Amino acid sequence: MRHFAVVGSGPAGFYTAEALAKAYGEHARIDILDRYPVPYGLIRFGVAPDHQSLKAVAKRYDKVAEGETVGFIGNVSLGSDVAVDELLEQYDAVILATGAPNDRKLGIPGEDLPGVIGSAAFVGWYNGHPDFADLDPPLGGTHAAVIGNGNVALDCARILAKTPAEFAGSDIVGHAFHALGNAAIRTITVLGRRGPHQIAMTPKELGELGHLEAAVPLVELADFPPRDADDALEPGQRKSVTILREFADIRANKSKAMVFDFFARPVAIEGDGRAERVIVERTELDEQGGARGTGETYEVPATLAISSIGYSTPPIAGVPYDERGGKFLNDHGRIAERLYAVGWARRGPTGTIGTNRPDGYEVAEQVAVAMPPGSDGGRGGGEGLRRLLEARGVTPTNFADWRKIEAAEEGAARTGSPREKMVRVEDWLTTLGR
Ligand code: NAP
Repeated sequence: MRHFAVVGSGPAGFYTAEALAKAYGEHARIDILDRYPVPYGLIRFGVAPDHQSLKAVAKRYDKVAEGETVGFIGNVSLGSDVAVDELLEQYDAVILATGAPNDRKLGIPGEDLPGVIGSAAFVGWYNGHPDFADLDPPLGGTHAAVIGNGNVALDCARILAKTPAEFAGSDIVGHAFHALGNAAIRTITVLGRRGPHQIAMTPKELGELGHLEAAVPLVELADFPPRDADDALEPGQRKSVTILREFADIRANKSKAMVFDFFARPVAIEGDGRAERVIVERTELDEQGGARGTGETYEVPATLAISSIGYSTPPIAGVPYDERGGKFLNDHGRIAERLYAVGWARRGPTGTIGTNRPDGYEVAEQVAVAMPPGSDGGRGGGEGLRRLLEARGVTPTNFADWRKIEAAEEGAARTGSPREKMVRVEDWLTTLGR
């Protein structure tokens, strides 16, 4: 018998557990650990609440968790409740699927002013992440800025732009639904440090902006290279750029504007004790396609500035870390003897949910080569971990506990919404009678 611990119950963790369960059958027990009492990581806390079709992948993960050989151990934090070394004593292999929940920093003056918020925090707030339940982003001003030209920037800008009616069917948490419904924001400036050809936004996500009820996307065709230049782009990027160009033709009188400001690099955020404006330097492309400052600066008014410039994986004591990449140092997922990383903790914060599937399967295959199914490692696995946690007064949750929380959340849903998420760890535990 082999025992495996997968730390993190987001897509990377679940695909890895699925792959290990398939590879080993009866010959392994796989525990999926999470620091929260509830599973799904990015699916629950990252994927936008108005993208329910993407969240539906959790149904596939449910099947994994309900498999005979797989268990869910929630409410256990790696680092504070149990150390990596201790897991390695109990399990034959430990696979870190801890994601990349930390915001990358802009590194500019004024970044720490109230009103400047990282996208992880903002996304966490509207998605009911317990760490950001009290974020209370300032929504009383008329101008907001979103820094970055990736899909997360798009999510943040779209959520700011939507009307309450447009959240029908979503599971945006009540506190965010009400606060956004009362928000005064009318202009959302999306700042890209390079041009339209360099965006990291995908066509489907970009296309949604053309159909918003109260907001119109605004682009300047002067920012684009000649149309012929689009032919050199790879097909997906060409599609995105075509959609952007089409935005220039939209003639609509709407109450909100989403302004795409390209070649605009934030160099400071200023204000009297809180964010009031982003100081932006005009850029141009250098020979390598990077952003080169022109020295010309201007102000973009913003009492809320969301920086959405990528994420990093939190380091764990004793696990080699790649500072530049913001992930664990690894070779094709292998960090050290019996220790692996998958997903964003392995590759850095890029790729879609589906990218994690081959990633998890590849690492599971490596594990299976190193410890062939049918071999025995002589370790305690989940039983050993449970004893350790009990001695420390840590009470984990299991998948049946999650099902109880899920039922309570579904029962509390607004009309038309799939669930009303609880946003505090205490509330999850109270639901379980703890
Ligand atoms: P991303 O795709 O890497 O985009 C980061 C953006 O931030 C880029 O436009 C980058 O510009 C910009 N940036 C980086 N450093 C900057 C700085 N110092 N100043 C100004 N701009 C800066 O990251 P993401 O948006 O966080 O998304 C992460 C991954 O999740 C991506 O693979 C994304 O596609 C995926 N995702 C998918 C969906 C979906 O499918 N619906 C939704 C959300 C996220 P440069 O290009 O110039 O570096």
